[in-house]
Amino acid sequence: MDMSDIESAHESTALRGELRVNELMKKYTSWRAGGTAERVYMPADLADLTPFLLGLPADEPVHVIGLGSNLLVRDGGVRGTVVVLHARLNELRLEQRNEKDGLIYAQAGLACAKVARFAASHHLAGAEFLAGIPGTIGGALAMNAGCYGTETWEIVERVQTISRKGELRERSPGDYRVGYRHVALKPEVRAEMHGAKNLSGVFLNDEWFVGGWFRLPGGALDTSRQKIKEFLARRIASQPLNLPNAGSVFRNPPEDRAARLIESCGLKGFCIGGAMVSPKHANFIVNTGAATAADIEAVITTVKNQVKQQTGIELEQEVRIIGTAQ
Ligand SMILES: Cc1cc2nc3c(=O)[nH]c(=O)nc-3n(C[C@H](O)[C@H](O)[C@H](O)COP(=O)(O)OP(=O)(O)OC[C@H]3O[C@@H](n4cnc5c(N)ncnc54)[C@H](O)[C@@H]3O)c2cc1C
Repeated sequence: MDMSDIESAHESTALRGELRVNELMKKYTSWRAGGTAERVYMPADLADLTPFLLGLPADEPVHVIGLGSNLLVRDGGVRGTVVVLHARLNELRLEQRNEKDGLIYAQAGLACAKVARFAASHHLAGAEFLAGIPGTIGGALAMNAGCYGTETWEIVERVQTISRKGELRERSPGDYRVGYRHVALKPEVRAEMHGAKNLSGVFLNDEWFVGGWFRLPGGALDTSRQKIKEFLARRIASQPLNLPNAGSVFRNPPEDRAARLIESCGLKGFCIGGAMVSPKHANFIVNTGAATAADIEAVITTVKNQVKQQTGIELEQEVRIIGTAQ
């Protein structure tokens, strides 16, 4: 099958998901900026994702996303297919419960906040931090999202993945290198997956999260609810939630905070086109209305350069950037 046949193949097979062509990615990203994707596929459910992936030509680029809350798509758009899991892979259940703890299964397309509330309602503690992360469970697994002292992988018992060929697997945390806003399959696991001995240095983006099992200790509903409330109040007080943004743009360097460094360089309020370093939180770049992805990327580059020049510290991006410039 040739790439241009994907649309007709979709019509002629029993796929139940929704395929859109030349779709504006600003509809799928929290920055509300950027170009189009050649194709966007929203699977009906997990069972529908396997035949879709299987039917793609081997050279079709595939990007799996959730709520696009950590993502910039350049103005020239993105080649290939963007698979959007949000609100599609939505199963959520309590799989085990005993006196001590419980195990929740959550699929990748669920909003993190929903899982936080679900855990609390089952008297399980430790998922409250997810309430304020405006992404999906898949995105939280991919980014090791975290806040207020907890990171996603601290509560993961195992994950469920899908390969480029539509194969489903269960993996344990031991299969991954997990760090601060970083998760990758260990090279030896990747090599085994491809039946090759040496893939060192090669990153093949060919397996994605479709769900996870989260082990949480027993807790009290009121305590969890109170924690969620406090976490959300802290965000409202410190983050510019009234304008489109993608959360923290840069990782915090060891022993410091990116926001403090950016502010110390006098960059709060710095603008290019419609993109501005938030005066409320210097590690956020907001879209003041009509920002292009190029505006946002130019602000990112300027901030990086200024911080390097003025402090000697090299900031690393936390947000992911895909696509080509216009
Ligand atoms: C207001 C605001 C506050 C935020 N606060 C926090 C915070 O406190 N802590 C924090 O860590 N982050 C925070 N973020 C950033 C963001 O919400 C997280 O990184 C979140 O985990 C991204 O989830 P998503 O579903 O939106 O992922 P997307 O933005 O859709 O994708 C992000 C990356 O993950 C990959 N990905 C997505 N889904 C999958 C999948 N199923 N399998 C494999 N890869 C996948 C994508 O390809 C992409 O590279 C904030 C963002 C905003 C806008």
